Amino acid sequence: MTAAEPLIIVVSGPGGVGKGTIVTALVERDPKLWLSRSWTTRVQRAGESSAAYVFTDRAAFEARIDAGGFLEWTEFLGNYYGTPNPEIADGRDVVLEIEVDGARQVKALQPQAILIFVLPPSRDEQERRLRGRGDADHKVAERLQKAELEEPIGRELADYIVVNDDLERTIDEMIEILHRCRSGGAST
Ligand code: 5GP
Repeated sequence: MTAAEPLIIVVSGPGGVGKGTIVTALVERDPKLWLSRSWTTRVQRAGESSAAYVFTDRAAFEARIDAGGFLEWTEFLGNYYGTPNPEIADGRDVVLEIEVDGARQVKALQPQAILIFVLPPSRDEQERRLRGRGDADHKVAERLQKAELEEPIGRELADYIVVNDDLERTIDEMIEILHRCRSGGAST
């Protein structure tokens, strides 16, 4: 019997839902996971780690698009975001934390990818989390509006929908989903 193909786990969901915190905790808990680092043309936020993304400019991003260097990419609220073609030799399962257009592209390319769509417990909580990142009011409004558009698409694409009402509980639920997928279980 050959070793199982690495899983591709796509974690998507509206801004402010806590995806970044969730995927960071997931890879800390599960050493069989490998977190992809995206490229973006967005400027680094105050207090944001310089390792959060490969921060780049439009010319370099477009050159990489032309060279076929992205598994998927999109333009989100005026900036490019993209997943470099994954290069992992050690058989770890790949985690992508991306928005819904990218999730749709990955599903089209790799139908076996598992899409977990994360929702906030409420719009109020989502807004509170977005404001907590220090974004300007108009940026928060823009992201909330975008979230309204993304939610029905994400629900439609999702293999699993998880409500991030409590971080620890959410991570436990996602670990359980991973174990089910690794043992060949179907989504519910
Ligand atoms: P943020 O600016 O808040 O870091 O990210 C904005 C949105 O882009 C989030 O929904 C985030 O998940 C998504 N995103 C981050 N990296 C990528 C990527 O490589 N591809 C796509 N399609 N979306 C991404």
